[in-house]
Amino acid sequence: MEALTRKRKLRSFQPLWANTPDIRVSALHKIPDTSVDVLIVGAGISGALMALSLANRGLKVLVVDRRQPLHGSSLASTAMIQHEIDVPLHKLASMIGGEKARRVWQRSAQAVKTLSTLVDHLGIACRLERKHSLYLAGNDFGARALRTETDSRSKAGLAAAFLDPRQLRQRFALERTGAIESHISASANPAQLTAGLWRKAQEGGVSVVKDIEVTDMRSLEGSNVVATSKGGIIQATHVVFCTGYEFLDAVANQGHRIVSTWAFATRPHHPRPKWLTDYLVWEGSDPYLYFRSTPDGRIIVGGEDEDSATSFQDPVKLGAKSRTLRKKLSALLNIPIEEPDYQWAAAFGTTADGLPMIGAVPGFNKVYAAMGYGGNGITFSQIAAEILSAEILRHQDPDAELFAFR
Ligand SMILES: Cc1cc2nc3c(=O)[nH]c(=O)nc-3n(C[C@H](O)[C@H](O)[C@H](O)COP(=O)(O)OP(=O)(O)OC[C@H]3O[C@@H](n4cnc5c(N)ncnc54)[C@H](O)[C@@H]3O)c2cc1C
Repeated sequence: MEALTRKRKLRSFQPLWANTPDIRVSALHKIPDTSVDVLIVGAGISGALMALSLANRGLKVLVVDRRQPLHGSSLASTAMIQHEIDVPLHKLASMIGGEKARRVWQRSAQAVKTLSTLVDHLGIACRLERKHSLYLAGNDFGARALRTETDSRSKAGLAAAFLDPRQLRQRFALERTGAIESHISASANPAQLTAGLWRKAQEGGVSVVKDIEVTDMRSLEGSNVVATSKGGIIQATHVVFCTGYEFLDAVANQGHRIVSTWAFATRPHHPRPKWLTDYLVWEGSDPYLYFRSTPDGRIIVGGEDEDSATSFQDPVKLGAKSRTLRKKLSALLNIPIEEPDYQWAAAFGTTADGLPMIGAVPGFNKVYAAMGYGGNGITFSQIAAEILSAEILRHQDPDAELFAFR
């Protein structure tokens, strides 16, 4: 049977997180109830945040996944939880207007703070750490663009400081024509984060069923009827697709595309500059490089994206991409970077304006999708949970139109 979302390979090789403790999420084999208030399709981080924001609200919430929970893209994430979206504020302003662009960036900053506070409040052990960030000038956005960007961010009330080459050299021993330093970021183990969120959602009454695919759906008066690969029918007032890069065909042609991306992690206690403990680093280049450290002293490095939906599966490319990333990092930090301990590759969704797509799916009634694309997928998952749960609970989110399907 055809699936409602096109199945694709989402990642290749072994991500670092697959070997970390406490990432198992228990899931049922059978649907416990075929009539629910909310059906969430997808048990990655988007589904987890969505389920958690609806848990304990007196709604019957069922989650289904064609894989095991947490076995999609979320397991491959490098989990730099940033408010800085891929498209700089000044550039986004020229695309969607200054006022809207400012609201997007402010909402993003708020989402990082909310998510960090939520993790603290729930006591989820996922090595979440608050971080500063350094956005380095590169071949796409040079020093002049970064000065303009600093100015735009400051006007939007988002603290940012432009660092000139002398300051970069003195404080970080980095040779670049400029950088923006900012403060509202975090990092975490995405697998422990997602698993922890699922456990809390389950404690709040949410049921999770694995190895079951949603294959068809019809909006009837007052509810949606959903067919599954196991032959059963689920009746749901609301359906939320949190299916990551396996998007719904109904919204497949909305200006997004799937590319390939690569990442690696060094062994623990790798030699590294002291400041890296507190900073996430990325750059305004294409292809780009980004990196951070973990509490046990690994360096996680990613980038070298390629405009192909499948090349991440190529084992020869995996080695070549790691070598390029190592070489670039080594040149930038001026230290040798050892052979990776883990290296992996994955599909990665992007949109032209860097924004996610969150909202009602055209042609259906009370059916929504949360497509948190780009390097800020986790931040966008948080925003999606806020917007869509408000919609389901009948509170209008003032920013909903910023991320709606377009
Ligand atoms: C290598 C890499 C690095 C990244 N780095 C960062 C980063 O540093 N910071 C950041 O914020 N983001 C990053 N991202 C993005 C972020 O990880 C993703 O946006 C996020 O993990 C997506 O979560 P999700 O829950 O939407 O999707 P997924 O985790 O893929 O979960 C979707 C689930 O839906 C299920 N599904 C799909 N269709 C159906 C169906 N028809 N029926 C039943 N189940 C279905 C799938 O099986 C899957 O389990 C990165 C991504 C990658 C790949």
